[in-house]
Amino acid sequence: MPFTATAFETPGVDDVYWREEYAKICEDDAFLAQIVAQADLPTLLMALSAVTGDMTMLRPHLRPPFPPMDTVAHAHGGMSEAAQIEARALALEALKQLRDEGLNRPRPLDDAETRALIDFLTSDAGETDAEILTHEMDLAAKKLGAPGWKFDDVASDREFSVAVIGTGMSGIGAMYRLKQAGVPFTAFEKNPDVGGVWLANTYPGVRLDTPTFGYSFSFAQRADWPHAFATGSEIQDYARDIVARAGLRENIHFGVEVVSLKWDESTGYWDVVTRTGNDELAHHRFNAVISAVGQLERPNIPEIEGQSDFKGVRMHSARWNHDVELRGKRVAVIGTGASAYQIVPAIVGEVEHLTVFQRSGPWMVPAPNYYDDTPKAMRWLVEHVPCYGQWFRLSAFYQAATGRLHTAIIDPNWNREDSVSAKNLEVRESLTKILREQWKNHPEHLDKIVPTYPPGGKRMLRDNGVWAAALQRPNATLVTHPIVRFTETGLVTEDGVEHPVDVVVYATGFTAAEFLDPMEIRGVSGQTLKEYWKGDAKAWGGIAVPDFPNFFILLGPNTNYVVHGSQHFMMECAAEFAVESIHQVLRRGIKGIEVKQEVLDAFVERVDAENQRRAWGRSQISNWYKNRFGRVSQVWPFSHREYWQLTHDVDFDGDFKSH
Ligand SMILES: Cc1cc2nc3c(=O)[nH]c(=O)nc-3n(C[C@H](O)[C@H](O)[C@H](O)COP(=O)(O)OP(=O)(O)OC[C@H]3O[C@@H](n4cnc5c(N)ncnc54)[C@H](O)[C@@H]3O)c2cc1C
Repeated sequence: MPFTATAFETPGVDDVYWREEYAKICEDDAFLAQIVAQADLPTLLMALSAVTGDMTMLRPHLRPPFPPMDTVAHAHGGMSEAAQIEARALALEALKQLRDEGLNRPRPLDDAETRALIDFLTSDAGETDAEILTHEMDLAAKKLGAPGWKFDDVASDREFSVAVIGTGMSGIGAMYRLKQAGVPFTAFEKNPDVGGVWLANTYPGVRLDTPTFGYSFSFAQRADWPHAFATGSEIQDYARDIVARAGLRENIHFGVEVVSLKWDESTGYWDVVTRTGNDELAHHRFNAVISAVGQLERPNIPEIEGQSDFKGVRMHSARWNHDVELRGKRVAVIGTGASAYQIVPAIVGEVEHLTVFQRSGPWMVPAPNYYDDTPKAMRWLVEHVPCYGQWFRLSAFYQAATGRLHTAIIDPNWNREDSVSAKNLEVRESLTKILREQWKNHPEHLDKIVPTYPPGGKRMLRDNGVWAAALQRPNATLVTHPIVRFTETGLVTEDGVEHPVDVVVYATGFTAAEFLDPMEIRGVSGQTLKEYWKGDAKAWGGIAVPDFPNFFILLGPNTNYVVHGSQHFMMECAAEFAVESIHQVLRRGIKGIEVKQEVLDAFVERVDAENQRRAWGRSQISNWYKNRFGRVSQVWPFSHREYWQLTHDVDFDGDFKSH
């Protein structure tokens, strides 16, 4: 059934995938019982109580317990067996009711119903969680997120426009909210299309390593996903589709790179210089700039002696050359992070030999469904139960946002190197047990395979067994000695061994610490952002920097996450803050606003202190979250609640100054 409306067509609805009508249920009781047996029970109870209006189904003793995951997400949110049996019986009756009464349309919720559903999912949310879930819940009585003001009502006679730089996920989030508020804007994108990293990364095996339903916007709650972990091209299609549904494409200039920005204090404009493919430069004036340039964009190629002597092919994972034939070739993959983890199982079957160069092994959490299609029962539910997909997303969002943070908090009295607390050790032991089982025929390799650092020290990958299986194939070799140099025909490691290869794949990540590079951004005082940061990027909320008025960074410093969180939530919070700041500028009739230095300093102090208390902040661990000064400049160490409060409960009078 087609999706019928968009946020801009249906008043009160803020979801470009909104659907007014679902397929009618005509299946018999036995079929429905089978569906219920396979459904996620908290999701099903929420969806059915919302359609029927019977909130008594949300019995307090059926609430999924907290936290929803330790090592892995608990089935049915951790509901007990007895609770599951009771929930299934309730759900079956309600499904029959949908069929018998022909209930196939979403029913708006009132305040009390909204709250009852939130309390059910979260076992009595605090006020902040309640607000956050109201932002994420399509059917919420007063869904949050859309700007509560319109440009024409606030500043219709003011000449004002905003530049958005980059149209990956962050840029799409910003454009959507600007359009909702009716703020004139232009987006510049150096690529030929939207999507950002999903356009750039086309390597074999590319897909999400976070669950698909959690990787979506609150205003674009697609429900008919083909996979539990979407492929890269599915996410790229999602990005394109949102832009089409929301009518954002006409505001984007493709193939245009922003090279510099300069604030003019006398006029209150940013002078934005762009470059097109034929090296033509152009100047534009904007009142505000939203930077959505990403940080996993510029490949990090390690400096290895003799690189240019190598006669074979070298390519980075994010610049995959599909013309290079791998069949029958000897291929080296340098790195064992998130991209390598996807590339290695995808190519090992076709290459003659695969050599994987590992610095430290990844921790992996079990995800048997990592490659699976969306199960048939789920597809049926999405098609027949109004908003089932949205409720499933809400549940996935809450699970991801809460995540495994509690397993990565350093216990100050804990003195083991391999873990940071009793809980963390528990996770280590349960994951190690899986590795032992996977490597039971080659126990001699376990010391290379089991990471020495604590779980949560680096990003954790999803394990459906393919990584271990790939490395154990006769045509694969795992090398843990550091590479010291290239020769014309291969790579030499520290132990003096030469590994002959035809193709070298750098799965070595990105120059993530160099935020906003290579743009030259000059603020009020004339200094550039690069000069201000001196390699140690710091921004209030990852978004605002003193001396740079009306300049907002999405997914900026300290907004990434390791074991908990949602990237879309962080992007949306930052975009909503940017749009509200623009509102303040318009409402006050000022040129601009700028965060105060002391506010940024206090913020950074708090963030740094908290990062020191997390597994990834441990000084012994090297990871890409730390910059060259050893400071964690990537990760948000608090919960999602703190980011929501920071970005939505802003003291514009006290913490910001006007221009
Ligand atoms: C391979 C890979 C897999 C990932 N998997 C996951 C995952 O499973 N889950 C998850 O949560 N996150 C994942 N991420 C993180 C991912 O980066 C974010 O989820 C998100 O897509 C970032 O979006 P963005 O818009 O901020 O940045 P980007 O996607 O990097 O987009 C930035 C855009 O800005 C453009 N741009 C940059 N500079 C300029 C300029 N000067 N002028 C004009 N345009 C410019 C770029 O061309 C690009 O289109 C993954 C990242 C990678 C690289």
